[in-house]
Amino acid sequence: MSSRKSPVVVMKFGGTSVGDVTRVKHVADIVMAHRRERPDVAVVVVLSAMAGETNKLVALAKSCVDEPSGREMDVLLASGEQVTVALLAMRLSALGFPAKSLLGAQAKISTSGQHTNAMIEEVETDSIEAVLAEGGVPVIAGFQGVTEGGDITTLGRGGSDITAVAVAAALRAEACLIYTDVRGVYSADPRICRGARLLDRVAHEEMLEMASLGAKVLHTRSVFFAMRYGVPLAVLSTFGGSFVPGVNGTWIVNEDELMEKPVVTGVTHRLDEARLMIQSMPSDISTMARLFSLLGERDILVDMISQETVSPGLVNVSLTVADDQSSVALDIARSSVPELGAGGVSVERNIAKVSVVGLGMRRHTDVAGRTFRALEKHGIDLQMVNTSEIKISVLVARKHCEAAVRALNDEFAPEVSECFDALA
Ligand code: ADP
Ligand code: ASP
Ligand code: MG
Repeated sequence: MSSRKSPVVVMKFGGTSVGDVTRVKHVADIVMAHRRERPDVAVVVVLSAMAGETNKLVALAKSCVDEPSGREMDVLLASGEQVTVALLAMRLSALGFPAKSLLGAQAKISTSGQHTNAMIEEVETDSIEAVLAEGGVPVIAGFQGVTEGGDITTLGRGGSDITAVAVAAALRAEACLIYTDVRGVYSADPRICRGARLLDRVAHEEMLEMASLGAKVLHTRSVFFAMRYGVPLAVLSTFGGSFVPGVNGTWIVNEDELMEKPVVTGVTHRLDEARLMIQSMPSDISTMARLFSLLGERDILVDMISQETVSPGLVNVSLTVADDQSSVALDIARSSVPELGAGGVSVERNIAKVSVVGLGMRRHTDVAGRTFRALEKHGIDLQMVNTSEIKISVLVARKHCEAAVRALNDEFAPEVSECFDALA
């Protein structure tokens, strides 16, 4: 942890924000404006790779070998961020604001050894502090770290958000500002839902659920870090024209800072799950337990589960898994059909999971009823349902995903804005 007394702000810019050199220059202007407006506040920058670059690197590896090793994959993936940090640091320095790029290892971001999905364990701030002490702007490569043994790691897709919040926590920053290509967190993905509303404030618990249920504007683990270490976290636009942080953006706050809690704050969607169906399986609990043990032993994470009786003593079991685990899950289920005494197995990939999330659900009844009626009105059938205290998820045909998001946003979002009016 840092012993520095002067305040610092961490500014993170995502892939679209640094998508080409013109945009890197624009980011330099934003950093410069912040330094000019608030000369007493130091700035630390965290960057992503240029939009599309990490995808290109993944494709490059796959065109080279079928199953790249995690270690070499990380060496490759980390190169995207190396480009942007160098460009921004040289631009800032040329503008008269001395800056120094730091790769994950140079910024001493220590992680676990789980390649391509490593966890940040510690950020030693001395090299970042050294740049600050010279009056410079540290420009840190997001998404990457280093193991105890010196191997490069990456944090999982979208992981620059995690770097930013972890660095902000370690520096005890006054705020972590996530600059992106939309104005903040909306009640639904504004790219597929025109009626989505920009949210002023979202509670950590809601944002955690929204992120893990598909709102990729913030990485789930970045929200977790912000909540755990009390880092003030905001999402705002790189392209909004305003350089004043907090204006037109969304703050992620503690639940007790929200006076009113809308029933549903956000509607999210995910397209990366698959549904596995095991037909005509004996309905006793030990067969069910065996099926899930077999999947668990191979590290298959099961999300939704449902069963329906097809005839006395026999059920069809449906479960959802991440798409990238679905082939392995299918193999496991297929090879255990004789042992389980099931009739057969199939997989369905043309599905989408649409969820409504809101703290207000704890106190309101009929949220499920409203959700189902709104979908029914648009002729959208439900394949599965899953609930927790603050969310309801439904599985729908993929072709209905966008219509479902819009229907649910129309149903619940008007109440969100009423809450904010009430707060104003
Ligand atoms: P960056 O490259 O800046 O990290 P991302 O693409 O990871 O940006 O995240 C921003 C995108 O998240 C937006 O362009 C938007 O399409 C998507 N998104 C999904 N759900 C939401 C939401 N509820 N609010 C805002 N953006 C959302
Ligand atoms: N460049 C990485 C990715 O595309 C990390 C990030 O953008 O946050 O996933
Ligand atoms: Mg992102």
